[in-house]
Amino acid sequence: MSAQLIDGFGRVHRDLRISVTDRCNFRCAYCMPEEGMQWQRREDLLSFEEIERVARIMVERYGVDGIRLTGGEPTVRARLPILVEKLAALGVDLAMTTNGVTLPLLAKDLKAAGLRRVNISLDSLRHDRFEELTRRDELDRVLEGIDAAKAAGFDPVKINVVVMKGINDDEVLDFARFGREHDVTVRFIEFMPLDADEIWNNDRVLTQAEILATLQAEFDLEPVERTSAPASRWRYADGAGEIGVVASVSQSFCDTCDRVRITADGQFRNCLFATDETDVRALLRDDSSDDVIAAALERTVAAKWAGHQINQVHFIRPRRSMSEIGG
Ligand code: SAM
Ligand code: SF4
Repeated sequence: MSAQLIDGFGRVHRDLRISVTDRCNFRCAYCMPEEGMQWQRREDLLSFEEIERVARIMVERYGVDGIRLTGGEPTVRARLPILVEKLAALGVDLAMTTNGVTLPLLAKDLKAAGLRRVNISLDSLRHDRFEELTRRDELDRVLEGIDAAKAAGFDPVKINVVVMKGINDDEVLDFARFGREHDVTVRFIEFMPLDADEIWNNDRVLTQAEILATLQAEFDLEPVERTSAPASRWRYADGAGEIGVVASVSQSFCDTCDRVRITADGQFRNCLFATDETDVRALLRDDSSDDVIAAALERTVAAKWAGHQINQVHFIRPRRSMSEIGG
């Protein structure tokens, strides 16, 4: 490996997010419309072999060392452990973001296949609110999924909470206590303008500063040194683990971003908020060589912009919503 996926601002990209399906068994209000999603046709999704090929190019040529599986809901893709086994063989830090509802069934098999880490999305600990937000009455199954992930040996298990003002911002302390009691790392995520129903506006964003002030009213927190990961982190002074905030809106981390993404239908994106994509699926299916595919990846990353500019007048919402890109 000598080449790098580097952009015009000197950012080297080593973190790949792969969406394995656009389908989902939930319909979270901040992500997907309740009805009317047009699913990709099965034949338009990348096959496991195609995913493995493009991932291998990135790992072997460009030193990509982290891969995260996402969706839609990644666990609704049939035979997911087979893909996990193929990607784990590349020797990367392999993680998955999931709504957790199928983990009671799948956690063990995924761990055995080589998945190293899981992040579970959970935005309310209250049954009625959970159902309103996800449009599914599955809180108990998700809580079971968290236990199943821990029992399967995933460590740490992280919980991602999208916090929205007036919707679930009164649960910040409940989540912190939940994390401490259940020995899981809670990360609060600022609400981003990628919701299919377009309910996002700036007034709905509970900022990192507001989240931190709420936490500090009850807990003594010490900052943890930042890595290239998007979360700002704090540890509890009493040793009961740590807590994080992904402040994508109020304190964008674009200048240290090292991520690229592939959608379930094989479109390569250089930013979550990108308005352009590169059709890698077409290259994979027209017998293009690895060199040709690699050149397309390099060009796409080289063209990356400085940052997303949410809150600026010229911000353009991407055509796809979060469930189609993968978070
Ligand atoms: N279905 C899986 C899940 O929910 O974890 C993976 C896909 S989901 C699109 C990936 C992440 O994006 C989840 O943590 C979800 O909470 C987050 N997300 C979805 N819509 C969002 C939004 N508008 N703002 C911030 N985060 C969002
Ligand atoms: Fe599905 Fe995840 Fe989007 Fe919720 S956040 S609708 S679980 S893809």
